[in-house]
Amino acid sequence: MEYIADKDRYNSMEYKRCGSSGILLPKISLGLWHNFSDSTVFENSRDMARVSFDLGITHFDLANNYGPPPGSAEENFGLILKKDLKPYRDELIISTKAGYDMWPGPYGNWGSRKYLISSCDQSLKRLGLDYVDVFYHHRPDPDTPLLETMTALDYIVRSGRAMYIGLSNYYLPEKAKEAFAILKDLGTPCLLHQVKYNMFDRRVENGLLDLHDSENIGVVTFSPLEKGILTNKYLNGIPNDSRAKKDGRFLKPDDITDDVVSRVLKLNSIAQSRGQTLAQMSLSWNLRHKSVSSVIIGASRSSQIKDCIGALENSEFSKDELDLIDKIVK
Ligand code: NDP
Repeated sequence: MEYIADKDRYNSMEYKRCGSSGILLPKISLGLWHNFSDSTVFENSRDMARVSFDLGITHFDLANNYGPPPGSAEENFGLILKKDLKPYRDELIISTKAGYDMWPGPYGNWGSRKYLISSCDQSLKRLGLDYVDVFYHHRPDPDTPLLETMTALDYIVRSGRAMYIGLSNYYLPEKAKEAFAILKDLGTPCLLHQVKYNMFDRRVENGLLDLHDSENIGVVTFSPLEKGILTNKYLNGIPNDSRAKKDGRFLKPDDITDDVVSRVLKLNSIAQSRGQTLAQMSLSWNLRHKSVSSVIIGASRSSQIKDCIGALENSEFSKDELDLIDKIVK
């Protein structure tokens, strides 16, 4: 049946300016790292994309290597665009990345000009698009000169393949600052930086978040639910339909230790006292930061996306709550 987007889709989502740019991002974005591959059910992926857009989620995050096999998430999202979302193309922010291993040989990984431009062309083909809204360098390359990588990103924008540039996983504040400065000099300022951040993973509190405040560059955070651990999912064992059980590549049953579960149980009771699910509290906690423009969630079914959106209803934390959370997780 033909998809017609919900006419009320912009009524409840909140949008936040990304740094000092012209772009507003939905506070909650959907990532396609899992559950959009060839080994998942296409109609479920399609349902999640449609439900997201109906809820005002305008930002869909991909990468060249999302799958398995690598590239299949882009292909499947390309199909969803073709079937459902293409008429709404100008309402969407579609991002993709390159930086991890994608094809054999010396030119299919890291940050050379050859890799980035070729990979962007491949992504556009898989997505069936003329351009993406954001093209990211997925991780810093210790061996390629930063200037080569940044100049390639600038070219990708100037050649019309992407509207904006993003960086991802540049955790060393000095390196991020240098990259931001080069891009600014080239005339293609960095739109946003995508980093991992959640109550358990606090790496970006090493000065990186502050750097974004002072440079006025937006932050989008990934794995805000620590791949599902920061939800009520694993409180009573490891469900058969969970990522830890079903997938096992990046989240293994061994990661769900007794210690982790006991901390999550305590966090869950704080969430309950706030009238939130733990997933909602985890997202609100992340979004409380001034520089965080959006959290990129993953989901295995659309009911999770609906639950996550509820985070927007309670975004305030008392100092006592924040202190208690720190005590539990640190
Ligand atoms: P999350 O931390 O949001 O984990 C998502 C998982 O949490 C879901 O698959 C689901 O687990 C569970 N979940 C989600 N909502 C709920 C809910 N309401 N209640 C209970 N469980 C819930 O994010 P991801 O790790 O999936 O990462 C999100 C996105 O971030 C990726 O898709 C990608 O776009 C981006 N990313 C970027 C990286 C980078 O290097 N730049 C690296 C990693 C991710 P289950 O499947 O078990 O049901």
